[in-house]
Amino acid sequence: MSLEIELAEASEHRCGCCGKRSHTLRGFVTKDGDAHAVYMAGYTEKHTPEEGTLLVSIGDWTDGSTPADRAAVVMKAQKIDGRFQLMVVGPEGCPWDDVAVFGAIATRAEALARADIQEYFHVADHVLEIDTRFTRGFA
Ligand SMILES: [Zn+2]
Repeated sequence: MSLEIELAEASEHRCGCCGKRSHTLRGFVTKDGDAHAVYMAGYTEKHTPEEGTLLVSIGDWTDGSTPADRAAVVMKAQKIDGRFQLMVVGPEGCPWDDVAVFGAIATRAEALARADIQEYFHVADHVLEIDTRFTRGFA
């Protein structure tokens, strides 16, 4: 199984907690050539704590599908000793308002109980590998 990532729109806003510049990056993920996942990744420049957010939505993204056909998992990303560490959080950890299209965001307990949770981590690992717009935000 091979995942490919296509980088999509990037946008900027001010961090809700401290007003520093925040970046939101988007991308599409295909698996063996078929639409598989969509993600949003965000970080705030020089933030304390230095922490990024990754939302991964997996499910049906074909024409005619609805948010009920997919499910979203939100993770926090931190760089510790030079390596990214991901921690699943619930909807309270999502900094974006306009995410209904991605499907319901699982609570941490729901996410970790998903049969396909490893697939979310798999997508996240690829994002961390490919989307340098996100990873360059970390020292
Ligand atoms: Zn802030």
